[in-house]
Amino acid sequence: MKPLTEQEIRSAFVNCSKGEAKRLSVPRDLAERPWDDLDYLGWRDPQAPDRAYVVAELGDGLKGIVLRCPSAMVGQLRRSMCSMCVTTHTGGVSLMVAPKAGRAGQQGNSVGAYICSDLACSLYVRGKRDAGVGGRLHESLTLEEKIRRTVDNLAAFMAKVTA
Ligand SMILES: [Zn+2]
Repeated sequence: MKPLTEQEIRSAFVNCSKGEAKRLSVPRDLAERPWDDLDYLGWRDPQAPDRAYVVAELGDGLKGIVLRCPSAMVGQLRRSMCSMCVTTHTGGVSLMVAPKAGRAGQQGNSVGAYICSDLACSLYVRGKRDAGVGGRLHESLTLEEKIRRTVDNLAAFMAKVTA
């Protein structure tokens, strides 16, 4: 993806208030992020480990979503699979819950998914970060197909958040 500025990131959020988007913690190392290898920008808030953020340009404009990780302390040793990039980790996948955009979110509706805890799906798919023994399934898909699948999974999740 193309490098993003803090301003672009803050204005992309669709499922939180404008005030929250203004205050939330945007990574300080944007210039050093491996943008060429990213399908989405994802990060955890170092001050609030139960908060995570995902920003992506998936065909219909740049969109950001705010996520909560209610089970941050639970199931750390369970082996589970990321529903975005299909990488299996032991203790490296978290259930993340996004409030829905708009009125549905204000009424408390949310959408959940199991996602790599470090939000580095793009790097696992490309083999640039190691998920440990057995992390990658043997698949006959090409790298391009795996990237496409990750992007499609994320787009489907974001569509549910904004529906
Ligand atoms: Zn993942």
